[in-house]
Amino acid sequence: MYDVSITACSSYDEDRVKAALEEALERIDGLSFVQKGMKIAIKPNLVSFRKPEEAATTHPALLKALVEMLLERGAEVVIGDSPGGPNSVMVLNRVYSATGMTALEKLGAVLNRNTEEITEAFPEGKKLDSVTYTSYLKEADAVIDFCKLKAHGMMGMSAAVKNLYGIIPGLKKPEMHYRFPNEADFAEMLIDLNEFIKPRLAICDAVVGMEGNGPLNGKPKQVGAIVASKSTYYCDLVCAELMGMNINGLPTLKAAYDRGLAPQSYKELNISGDIEALRSPDFEAPPVRGLHFMKKGTLLHFISSKALAQKPKLVPSLCVGCGECARMCPAKAIEIKNKKAVIDREKCIRCFCCQEFCPKAAMVVHRPFAAKVLNKLKL
Ligand code: SF4
Ligand code: SF4
Repeated sequence: MYDVSITACSSYDEDRVKAALEEALERIDGLSFVQKGMKIAIKPNLVSFRKPEEAATTHPALLKALVEMLLERGAEVVIGDSPGGPNSVMVLNRVYSATGMTALEKLGAVLNRNTEEITEAFPEGKKLDSVTYTSYLKEADAVIDFCKLKAHGMMGMSAAVKNLYGIIPGLKKPEMHYRFPNEADFAEMLIDLNEFIKPRLAICDAVVGMEGNGPLNGKPKQVGAIVASKSTYYCDLVCAELMGMNINGLPTLKAAYDRGLAPQSYKELNISGDIEALRSPDFEAPPVRGLHFMKKGTLLHFISSKALAQKPKLVPSLCVGCGECARMCPAKAIEIKNKKAVIDREKCIRCFCCQEFCPKAAMVVHRPFAAKVLNKLKL
């Protein structure tokens, strides 16, 4: 049996998507765990109120195909996420409506509107000794992680591993950024979440991904693929390769490798599908981030964390002074002055929540010149 499947799918035409997803899952025996009467939670990426064509969220055509397959097998299906902002039914309804999820209810899937939270001990965690998460997941017999392929300002890439950050309820997410301001620690926390939830299946919507200023304000990028695996880490290794990214620039994959959960390269996986043909070499991704992981206290670490560090930067002409960035900033580093966001660099922990949640794409990731040069050199 294959570790990962990668299947060509050039559009969101419903028939084409269904055929491609069936093929992708068949090649990894992906739905063999599904039993009649099982309650299955699908965790898509529904990060915000974005339309499917903006490529920030998992496309509803793919979710429809999966829901149909699960219902055909006699499972009960619940779909849920906890987007940024308050963990409320109003926010969920707005997100479900914008992202095209409401049509899935007509098929027989349930959209989660239970906003209760639950905290459970997790002694096996490396960074987390307990996990607070959205309680509908507790009631599920199995979780399917259905992510979107995106560039990500802080973590380099958002795919299956990062998607499980959405189990953390609404405004608790910025707290996690504050607890784990360093990318390497944040990545370890994400691996803890993956080990806690242990999804049975990871599927990545890479038909159209997002490049550049992701995870919310980048550009749609045609990739033309569906990636599926029983391991979120294996799925991400192949996704990284599709984006032309290296494990050294991706803290989650490095952390997974260090814990023995994934190999160092996709080449060590048994892959079904033509990864060479589907690779997207001109995918505009954030720079290689390996220099952030130099040993603390060393000169190289100082250089990488100061001179080469990426920072949030305001594009004043785009800022409308709405204050969303200030509300989301876990470090309280943003004030609105004269209807523009002003960042206190001393307080900023470079979590990029402001960039992620600015509705006007007015916060961008600023890359110092030296970092751009190193990125070009792929150091
Ligand atoms: S969220 Fe964006 S538009 Fe709103 S104040 Fe912040 S930077 Fe400006
Ligand atoms: S200013 Fe932006 S990057 Fe800095 S701490 Fe606040 S939200 Fe994070």
